[in-house]
Amino acid sequence: MAQQHVYTFGGQSADGDRTMKNTLGGKGANLAEMAKQGFPVPAGFTITTDVCVHYSKNDRQYPEGVKEQVEAALGKIEETMGAKFGSDENPLLLSCRSGARESMPGMMDTVLNIGLNEKTVAALIKQSGDERFAWDSYRRFVQMYGDVVLGVERDEQNEDPFETILDKAREDAGVEYDYELTVDQLKDIVSKFKAVVKEQKGRDFPEDPMEQLWGAIGAVFDSWDNDRAVVYRRQYGIPHEWGTATNVQAMVFGNLGDDCATGVGLTRNGADGTPGFNGDYLINAQGEDVVAGIRTPKRIEETLEKDMPEAYRELNDIGKRLEAHYKDIQDIEFTVQKGKVWMLQTRNAKRTGFAAVRIAHDLVEEGVIDSKEALNPRRIPADDLNQLLQPIFNTADKKKAQDAGQLLTTGINAGPGAASGKVVLTAEAAEAQANKDPDVSLVLVRKETSPEDLRGMRVAKGILTAQGGASSHAALVSRQMGKACIVGAQELQINYAQKTVSVGGTTLKEGDDISIDGFTGEVFAGLIPTSPSEVMQVLDGEMKAEDSETYQRYSKIMSWADEHRKLNVRANAESDDAAEAVAFGAEGIGLCRTEHMFFGHLDEIREMILAETAEARQKAVDQLLPFQKEDFTKLFTTLAGKPVTIRLLDPPLHEFLSDRHLEEEPGLDEKLAKIAGVTKEDVHRRVSELHELNPMLGHRGCRLGVVYPEVTRMQATAIFEAAVATKQAGHEVFPEVMIPLVGFKTEFENQAAVVREAAKAVFEKAGVEIPYTVGTMIEIPRAALRADEIAEGAEFFSFGTNDLTQTTLGISRDDYGSFMPQYREMDIVPADPFQTIDQPGVGRLMKIGIEGGRSTRKDLKIGICGEHGGDPKSVMFCHDAGLNYVSCSPRRIPIARLAAAQAAIAAG
Ligand code: ADP
Ligand code: MG
Ligand code: MG
Repeated sequence: MAQQHVYTFGGQSADGDRTMKNTLGGKGANLAEMAKQGFPVPAGFTITTDVCVHYSKNDRQYPEGVKEQVEAALGKIEETMGAKFGSDENPLLLSCRSGARESMPGMMDTVLNIGLNEKTVAALIKQSGDERFAWDSYRRFVQMYGDVVLGVERDEQNEDPFETILDKAREDAGVEYDYELTVDQLKDIVSKFKAVVKEQKGRDFPEDPMEQLWGAIGAVFDSWDNDRAVVYRRQYGIPHEWGTATNVQAMVFGNLGDDCATGVGLTRNGADGTPGFNGDYLINAQGEDVVAGIRTPKRIEETLEKDMPEAYRELNDIGKRLEAHYKDIQDIEFTVQKGKVWMLQTRNAKRTGFAAVRIAHDLVEEGVIDSKEALNPRRIPADDLNQLLQPIFNTADKKKAQDAGQLLTTGINAGPGAASGKVVLTAEAAEAQANKDPDVSLVLVRKETSPEDLRGMRVAKGILTAQGGASSHAALVSRQMGKACIVGAQELQINYAQKTVSVGGTTLKEGDDISIDGFTGEVFAGLIPTSPSEVMQVLDGEMKAEDSETYQRYSKIMSWADEHRKLNVRANAESDDAAEAVAFGAEGIGLCRTEHMFFGHLDEIREMILAETAEARQKAVDQLLPFQKEDFTKLFTTLAGKPVTIRLLDPPLHEFLSDRHLEEEPGLDEKLAKIAGVTKEDVHRRVSELHELNPMLGHRGCRLGVVYPEVTRMQATAIFEAAVATKQAGHEVFPEVMIPLVGFKTEFENQAAVVREAAKAVFEKAGVEIPYTVGTMIEIPRAALRADEIAEGAEFFSFGTNDLTQTTLGISRDDYGSFMPQYREMDIVPADPFQTIDQPGVGRLMKIGIEGGRSTRKDLKIGICGEHGGDPKSVMFCHDAGLNYVSCSPRRIPIARLAAAQAAIAAG
């Protein structure tokens, strides 16, 4: 038998089920599952993703057997639904719907009402007794088919010719909405639509239902490769090879009158996680109306129960059953035809980080899932925890803005968070401004958004729309991006031509400041200052844990994560942020960058740099010792006995003193000459000596300490004196001294000897011994390759993956911005290697380093302290590679804790 390309569903049974997402796509798999579980699903069939892959590779040819299988499956729909495709007595109409393995909202195409032509429309009238309905459906079909399948293009004014015709018809008829148009007006519109096709495409609109169906199937497969779908996949790391499935399904009608409706609902709130059925619906409409933002839909939680009590109860009940079955919040699409509920889709809903935490937490409380399942990365993507730490508007400042009359209007709170910034009205303008100034704060304000706006939405801090509901494109996408978002702020008058947004008596121009509160839906003119999130306030001791449910849920999730994870999590921190790191749960410091401490004592370090002799250098260095000691003592005390890895001086000296400094600060040369007891010319000469063509590969890291051992000695002495002082003050202390940029074993030995000597001297003098270790950063490929011999002396390793990535790839992090965006765009690299570890390259070197190090020293403690330590994918890799800890910036610690748990759970 030929391979199965087509899977049917409907009438309480199905060929496939929910486990078959790879083959049937998410939509197809869940339609099959729902049919099997006895939910009311219009019959249909799914053509597999394999067919899509074959079709795109083979010049749009279908694999053998597809045609026959489609025809057979169509026969089955006809049988189940008791109607016949193309019949002029009892016609079956079909929808043709895209559906990939992972949902890509609005990125691909769907065509409704397939099978309508002059003959079947007459039959539909007879059968339904509703002429208006039949012509409304036909109008929709010709429009969608013309757009999606025939590719009718916009005119010179960039207007959609179909929309122009519709607008004009409504205007001529003096009505606001499509459903108010009469039969004759609809007939006229259909013939005008067909004329557009004829004119643009030089052919008649297809009448043959089978031709229509195959056209639609091909268009859906083609839509996998449309520009916006490709951009979307790149952003969310969805492989281009997956392909989409195509679902062909019997139509049910929400546009048959006032006892009909179509809608999209969530079983809980996807923005903040509050339980309860909610969403959007429209009476007497078809599916595309709800998401398109043409009419602002009604809210399920407000009026559906009143409008359609029976249907509401049934939908609510179906939602509960689906949630119990899938054990997760569901996003459902439905149609009510003459009071009867039909399910058209269900899937695990997209949600914000806020909602993700609440829903996972609540489902555990409700006994639906256990804590391990709650941590599943599909439920709480570790990165999304970030949202719980984002600032919120300062209560007092918001009140002030309210009192000052800055509150413009209120819309639907679709994405929590506070965003202030300049109004920008188009995605292109947003992108252009962000390219010019990456730090610019923008709020994208639009009537509604569409997939074309994706790039602009990405660079905006917040999104505000005048139309559309909680399931509109804007709401869905911003939820996924974790942006503050308000939709359906209907009072906003947006004028794209004049670039203004008005409401009441206020008019804002593009570039004016606006503030949106995504928690409450409030829109303000002007900038409102923000304050830390509730979680931050509790961690900082400014709010009580019992006053913040958000904090309590966050803390529960974190405690579950800590139960499961194997990796320790440390922070890269040196001063004030160390206390914050501990509050976030840091189990130590993985990287204290001593040079950060130097920036407060530039005079002294510059004197050291200018020193001509070892004695002069010693004198300058001695002045730095007390400062360093004080900083270290503070750090040790904050960490209270947790390990603290201190890296010795790392950056090239010209970061402290260069021509730029001399230029920017007139008189600096004179001042330094005096401090160092040299001439102004000496200062300039020394500065030009320090200049390097390639500082990243120049005189830095341990190379400084090898040439200037006084510096290493001073730093080590400061570390151990601080340790002694901390110990004597009654606190535990565990210093780990880290030598940077080692490539040769001899470099390490050279520096370790200086450190150990200093330790010995300090301990002898104080009469106290403090346990400590000396280790190294592995950040040069040679160090990874020679890890076995380096580990003879080094007592720990820490992968400095920033430099290791630079040196392995030969790509400078300071310069890669000029080509990396194109590299990403062209899929030359799968991800930004400075954000996510390049596993095949850098990761391979890490594995060599780990193996080498542990071959010499079985229990060698190994960590990572590059930026990657807070990247969930990289954390997973570190777990699998057998690291002991990851170290990241304080704010990413919760993310790393969760990612570490997710890695441990995934590894079983
Ligand atoms: P998307 O993936 O963009 O949501 P869908 O394939 O789900 O596209 O179709 C969008 C909407 O079209 C659905 O939510 C539903 O309202 C409507 N629709 C699709 N198929 C049918 C059908 N067989 N009968 C009635 N409405 C349908
Ligand atoms: Mg859908
Ligand atoms: Mg480095």
